[in-house]
Amino acid sequence: MRYGIISDIHGNLEAFEAVLEECRNQGVRQYFCIGDIVGYGANPAECIALNRKIKAITVAGNHDWAVCGKMKTDQFNDVAQEAVDWTQQQLSTEDLKYLNDLPLEWVNDDFQMVHGSLNHPEEFNYIMDTRDTNDTFYMMKKNLCFVGHTHKPQIYAKTGDYIALSDAQNIVTDKASTYVVNVGSVGQPRDGNRDACYAIFDPDLNEININRANYDIRKAQDKILNAGLPAVLAKRLSIGQ
Ligand code: ZN
Repeated sequence: MRYGIISDIHGNLEAFEAVLEECRNQGVRQYFCIGDIVGYGANPAECIALNRKIKAITVAGNHDWAVCGKMKTDQFNDVAQEAVDWTQQQLSTEDLKYLNDLPLEWVNDDFQMVHGSLNHPEEFNYIMDTRDTNDTFYMMKKNLCFVGHTHKPQIYAKTGDYIALSDAQNIVTDKASTYVVNVGSVGQPRDGNRDACYAIFDPDLNEININRANYDIRKAQDKILNAGLPAVLAKRLSIGQ
């Protein structure tokens, strides 16, 4: 069984569809989504529908919470706030309930997942460097935790007391270590690579691959502009920032 691990779709249907096609071609049968299905992109309702259709096991992101009114947006910048307001208008009561009902964290036999970090998942803290991983490593129930939120793919490995940030895109996990893996962003990558980012995890082989999918960026950008969303949201997709 291979799992597709996706995060931060942000209403970008073109990126989402491209990732799912690649996942299917690589034998993925089960999907896990680490939150922020909506916000920024022009197809929030379609992305929720697709996420439900593929039966992705999903945890909540801060944008999901903001859009369904579960969280205040005073920490959001003006552009993010505008996107939240616009997105709210696009969603049905049922969509909003779906977002509202998402859990903050999830665990199975193989791994855990949370949008930000395991310490106070409801605060959506960012894991930007090795120091930020301390609490999450401490609180992990499994030897692997998938996260999102920063839109930058990263693999942290802890062996004994030492935490290392690896720039590898493919790893085989080792029983002697524990791992925090950020799977990057499907719909708005911010690591300088414009292609949609996602991960495939094979729990039988203990193998994690962070992959990139080409998609029709122009189409996603045109939709953002035509919707009257801030132009910067279209522009940043070209540069992956
Ligand atoms: Zn996000």
